[in-house]
Amino acid sequence: MRLVLLGPPGVGKGTQGRRLAGELGWALISTGEMLREAVAKGTPLGRAAGRLMAAGELVEDDIMVGLVRDRSAEPDAARGFVLDGFPRTVPQADALEAMLAERAQRIDLAAYLGAPEVELVRRLSGRLECPVCKRAYHRTDARPRDGRHCDDHPGVELRQRADDAEETVRKRLDVYRVQTAPLVDYYRRDGRLREVSGLGAMDEVYRSLKQALECPDPDPDPDPTSSGAPSGASSGASSGVSSDASRRARPGR
Ligand code: AMP
Repeated sequence: MRLVLLGPPGVGKGTQGRRLAGELGWALISTGEMLREAVAKGTPLGRAAGRLMAAGELVEDDIMVGLVRDRSAEPDAARGFVLDGFPRTVPQADALEAMLAERAQRIDLAAYLGAPEVELVRRLSGRLECPVCKRAYHRTDARPRDGRHCDDHPGVELRQRADDAEETVRKRLDVYRVQTAPLVDYYRRDGRLREVSGLGAMDEVYRSLKQALECPDPDPDPDPTSSGAPSGASSGASSGVSSDASRRARPGR
C-alpha cells in the first residue's frame, strides 16, 4: 500500500508511521526526518532548509517533490510506503499524483490523525527524541526509564527538536491550518480519506489506525522482489468490510 499520513504537527504521525511501516514491511518516508539529517550533515539542502524549519515555515515545493521522487523510487519502497509529512501543500499533492501516475502507481489511502490544538501544543512542547533511533518520548507522558537517556541507547541523551519551542510550534500550527489542512478534503473528495482520533494511548491510536486502513497482518517475508500479494488474511476481510475496500488497502499495489 502507498499511504499518506495527514494531520497537524504533534498528532503522532511519525510514531504511528514508523510502527506501521516497520510492521508491514513498507518504507517510511519522513520528509522532516530527511531534512533534519541534511541539516545535521550541513549539506546544501540542509543549509537552505534549516532556516525555514527553525522558523516553522515550509521548504519550497520543488525541493520537497524532488526529495520524495528519488526516495520513493528506492528498492525498499517497491512494495509500499508510508509518507509522513508529505504532501504538505496542494501543489505537492498534485505533483505526487503526477509522479506516481508516471509509474502506473497511486496513493491508495490517506489517514488523517486529529487532535485538539491545545493538546498538540502540550505534546510538542514536552516532546523529546533520541538522536540515534528517533524514538519519541515526552517529559510527562512517555518518560525514558532514567529520565534523560534513550531506553534503547543508554548513554545517548534525549533532545528537544529546535522547532518544538512553543513559539515555533504555534507558527507550525498556523502554517498547517492554512497550507496543509486543505489536503484532508483533497483525499476525502475521491473516497481515499480515513479519519482516526490521535487522542489516547499510542497503542490505542495504532489499533484504530490499522482498523481504519484495514491493514493486513504483518508479512513475515517483506521481500521487495516478490509479487506483493499479502501473505496473511486482511483484518478487513475478517471484519466483514467490502471486498473493494479490503482490496484497496492491501500492500504492493
Ligand atoms: P516534520 O518533522 O514533518 O514536522 O517537519 C519539520 C519541518 O520540516 C517542517 O516544519 C518544515 O519546515 C519542513 N518540512 C517537512 N516536510 C515538508 C514538506 N513536505 N514541505 C515543506 N516543508 C517540509
